[in-house]
Amino acid sequence: MAVLGLADPADGDWGRLRGLQYSSLARVSQVRVVAHVFAAIGAALVYYGSVHVAALIGWFATLCGSLYYGVMIDKALFDVDQRRIGRDEVNKQTFSAIGNALVWIVPMAAFAPFGDPAQRLELWAITAMLMTASAVLLPAVPLANVVFSSIVALSALVSFAVGQAYGMAMLALLFGVMIALGAIENARSFLTARIAESAMAEKSEVVSMLLREFEEGEADWLWQIDTSRRVRSVSPRFAFALGLTNDQIDGKPFIQLVAGPAWDSGQFPSSLHDLAERLKRRESFSNLLVRVTIGGQQRWWELSGTPKFNDSGNFDGFRGVGSDVTEQRESSEKIAHMARFDTLTGLPNRMMVTEALGEAIRYADQWRTKCAFLMIDLDRFKAVNDTLGHLVGDRLLARVSERLKALVTENELCGRLGGDEFAVVIRDASDHNRVERVALAVIEILSRPYEVDHHTLYIGASVGTAVGPRDGTTVETLMRNADLALYRSKEEGGGQHFGYEPALHAQAEERRKLEFSLRRALELGEFKLNYQPVVDALDESIVSFEALIRWHSEEHGMVRPDKFIPLAEDTRLIVPIGEWVLREACMEAVRWPSGIKVAVNVSGEQLLDPGFIASVVQALSASGLPAQRLEVEVTESIFLRDATTARNALEQIMSLGCGVALDDFGTGYSSLAYIRNLRFSTIKVDRSFVQGAATGSPESLAIIRAVVAMAESLEMSTTAEGVETEKELETIRALGCRKIQGYYFGRPMPAEEARALFKATKLRANA
Ligand code: C2E
Ligand code: CA
Ligand code: CA
Repeated sequence: MAVLGLADPADGDWGRLRGLQYSSLARVSQVRVVAHVFAAIGAALVYYGSVHVAALIGWFATLCGSLYYGVMIDKALFDVDQRRIGRDEVNKQTFSAIGNALVWIVPMAAFAPFGDPAQRLELWAITAMLMTASAVLLPAVPLANVVFSSIVALSALVSFAVGQAYGMAMLALLFGVMIALGAIENARSFLTARIAESAMAEKSEVVSMLLREFEEGEADWLWQIDTSRRVRSVSPRFAFALGLTNDQIDGKPFIQLVAGPAWDSGQFPSSLHDLAERLKRRESFSNLLVRVTIGGQQRWWELSGTPKFNDSGNFDGFRGVGSDVTEQRESSEKIAHMARFDTLTGLPNRMMVTEALGEAIRYADQWRTKCAFLMIDLDRFKAVNDTLGHLVGDRLLARVSERLKALVTENELCGRLGGDEFAVVIRDASDHNRVERVALAVIEILSRPYEVDHHTLYIGASVGTAVGPRDGTTVETLMRNADLALYRSKEEGGGQHFGYEPALHAQAEERRKLEFSLRRALELGEFKLNYQPVVDALDESIVSFEALIRWHSEEHGMVRPDKFIPLAEDTRLIVPIGEWVLREACMEAVRWPSGIKVAVNVSGEQLLDPGFIASVVQALSASGLPAQRLEVEVTESIFLRDATTARNALEQIMSLGCGVALDDFGTGYSSLAYIRNLRFSTIKVDRSFVQGAATGSPESLAIIRAVVAMAESLEMSTTAEGVETEKELETIRALGCRKIQGYYFGRPMPAEEARALFKATKLRANA
């Protein structure tokens, strides 16, 4: 049924297959017409004389009409192998075959009765031949064939039967069936062949596509030049690489083809000049990188070539391979750029800076001059990064580098060493003032306010310099010494420039030694706690003690906390030290009367440590001190690092029942917002305001008043720190601070002395 076109099985694209099937029709259309016309003429001649001529002509005309209709239908199918064929088109074919067959019934039915049996046999032979021819010629339209031969054979059968030629009738029936079966079989194999053919065509299309791709992907090509360096036997790929046709290339000088406008000017790029030289000298070369100009575009070619010699050993030109490596080269240039430049700021990175410094040192050595290295560190950058986020931090760094770039001249190179560290290499620093000038200019320009994302940011810069060869003759020593100088200016509070001096080494060495001792101080039991009383502003009774650490080092003697606490923070030694302080202070505090609290200082480093809460719990449980009697003192600086973690840690401390005091209020970033956001138990006003207030400074007075008012409204307590004199005490009292701490009431004292205070009070009370 499928072959006949009466059914379209679900599998396969039958519309398309039918298209392939019918595509041969248009081709054999004329042959069919010719066959029919000859057969019709034959039939007419058989009955010429026995049938009226007019009837014969009328029949012949009708046949021609039906053939014309058939040709028209076939014509419409000319493009059918490119498209799908519709069912209506198949039907039209069938109708045209039926019409055709009906015309062919006429001779058997209408002419034969007028003739004799011999004429009928002749007519049968002609129609049988026509049926056979159709079945063979038109395998594409089996249905039309089957319809045609069935109808014609049937009419012959009837005609023979009527003429009582039963044997012939049987024969006609048999023949008709065989033709029909043959037509179907023929069509089946025809269709199978078409299917196979179309699959082949598809396959070869794929192969050629793959080949094309392979050719395009393959970058190498062959080139060949003759003795006068003219291109010969151009390969298609070489022509493609040149962007020209073979004719445009053949016989042209090789160099002309790749030189572009340089050919006329003679100003070859050095690589091209090199190539020309080698060709002239008949030298072989491999992987020569050549800058060429193809179609006005600059490209990089990699060329290899060897001279050719003919049979008699004479030079016969060059032969070689080449490839376009522009893309690879550009990406490797990009990689090289990335390896030497900082991606965030576009400034030279550490690697390039050290290279430049090495260069400057060599230059200074060669010309007996000096070079200099400036190490720059931004002040307060960390605060910006931590509070406003890395995005703002990154933008700020970009601004900083813009300013640096604008500052440097040809004699200098500025770069980013990483983080917020920058550097400037001064190639010729023979004028010492120049170094100082550049350093101060750097500080000045970087300290101007920045506008980033609607924030006005104030940061500063510290600079340390080292001058070669005086301060070092190698990259390493110059960098280390500039770093030491930078450390010094940071230590002095930033915003300054320090040059390297050998004494810095001694200081660094001292610091290193101190660190070494500090590491062992805990084990050696060199720490002690002193306690300073804090009294009630009204009745002057002791309300608490602040625990203050003391270090008596075997090597360094008494070391002030201002000196070793920052060092301990830098080295994170503050974590174990702080734990010890907590434990020790709690142990001591349980010995005091139950109303007396103990205050312990906690550094940011310590607070952010994940084990901090556990260490507080541990100190409380080991000593048995109620949490309400412990107050932790923190400064505002903890909020600059990681405000969220700091706040979480403090909230956990508070939920234990401990108090949290804000220490040194007014000295740092002083924002009342910090106070509002956390339920501090106490605000400690820094000693400088106490002194200021006592001497009548309006700002100090205003700040203390504001803090006291705010603290009162939030039910927080206030402590004035460092009250030393009667006058200070009176001023503070008048301002309304609730608690007072200072030498006036007692210096930090050893634990025994603090304990003795209670005995004394008791004694006095008893007395
Ligand atoms: P701080 O927390 O502000 O401690 C108060 C400082 O003021 C103490 O200095 C104390 O001796 C001093 N002071 C108290 N009253 C007066 C006064 O009337 N006049 C003057 N001029 N000074 C007074 P100290 O003991 O040298 O401690 C310095 C800093 O070291 C402390 O400042 C604190 O930040 C830190 N520190 C001390 N012990 C520890 C500790 O155990 N852990 C941590 N993380 N830091 C500590
Ligand atoms: Ca304190
Ligand atoms: Ca303080």
